[in-house]
Amino acid sequence: MKINSNYLNLKDSYLFSLIAKKVNEFKQQNPEKNVIRLGIGDVTLPLVPAVVDAMHKAVSEMGSADTFKGYGEEQGYGFLRQAVCDYYAKKEVTLDISEVFISDGAKSDLGNILDIFDTDNTVIIPDPVYPVYVDTNIMAGRKIQFVNGSADNHFLPLPDEKTEGDIVYICSPNNPTGAVYTKEQLKIWVDWALERQAVILFDSAYEVFIRDESLPTSIYRIPGAKKCAIEFCSFSKTAGFTGTRCGYTVVPHELVRENVALNKLWLRSQTTKFNGVPYIVQRGAEAVFTEEGMKQIGEQIQYYLENARIMADTLTELGIWFTGGKNSPYIWLKCPNNMSSWEFFDYLLNKCSVVGTPGAGFGKNGEGFFRLTAFGNKRNVTEAMERIRKIIL
Ligand code: PLP
Repeated sequence: MKINSNYLNLKDSYLFSLIAKKVNEFKQQNPEKNVIRLGIGDVTLPLVPAVVDAMHKAVSEMGSADTFKGYGEEQGYGFLRQAVCDYYAKKEVTLDISEVFISDGAKSDLGNILDIFDTDNTVIIPDPVYPVYVDTNIMAGRKIQFVNGSADNHFLPLPDEKTEGDIVYICSPNNPTGAVYTKEQLKIWVDWALERQAVILFDSAYEVFIRDESLPTSIYRIPGAKKCAIEFCSFSKTAGFTGTRCGYTVVPHELVRENVALNKLWLRSQTTKFNGVPYIVQRGAEAVFTEEGMKQIGEQIQYYLENARIMADTLTELGIWFTGGKNSPYIWLKCPNNMSSWEFFDYLLNKCSVVGTPGAGFGKNGEGFFRLTAFGNKRNVTEAMERIRKIIL
């Protein structure tokens, strides 16, 4: 028996465990201090009433012999796939329900989609990045090339004449940088992919945070994208489903490589390896798209965006460079006084008991940067900004 030795090439991820260790040590030494965490990537507001009601109703259905459901279609119930299509129709994107696949979240799909691609493909990944893209490709032994995000390109890297590869990841609004591609910028990636018959894996997990109507909330707003892109989205950040688990992936029928529709391959993959999302959860997700559901989640998103605004205003006032903070729950700031990411982490923790995430944990280009998230409560965010204002000179 031989193991998959590609796993031995994975770097251990110390980021969140090291943060937890440092915070615990600090709390032990300073029990009187109130530590405020602005590092979490998890939501804090509860499921909205429309979702809870729909799920209660679904639980009752499951408890009655007439309405009980066993296995559903692996790719999701028609009612939810139709609701996703209707949501896209509002974005002026036409989808057929057979192009929509319901899953237990974007992370699984982002990892599993790689099964339908040859391991010989070269993958292009932006740096800094959501670490799942890198690790899942290392596990498969694929060659990875990085495209560099930097302050110069506002952490929105674009292909140049040297960029060559078969699969490219784009995340917009981006985790960790909060940066959002414009339509013009996404068109450059789409044209690049069409020219090379490459495939874009577009992660739109944070699309609901986009409030600027000129910014695209789906890659399919770009002409030609259905011929070159798969889109991943999730109810996690949209509607507080991080613990409830539901997402969806769009694989357009027009996306064909080597005379094979990728939709067919993904359907085969999902129906073989996955047995569907619970009926109760899918009914809850369906309720997100109702008028009431959209209104209620809209208020939550607005709450998080208000937190982001408070942080962005403080950084602007302090003259600290940052991306995100608008149309995104993330703020990516340049550490003041040329501090490294971890130096700034220690500085904030020790001087004002505020915790964020060192950018170096998201790739080499993250060194010298720092991520704050807007998922906390407003009182804490305001208090943290007051404290930061006092310690930054
Ligand atoms: N994509 C990005 C960019 C994320 O930041 C996250 C979660 O933090 C995910 C995907 C995973 O989402 P899900 O909870 O749907 O698995």
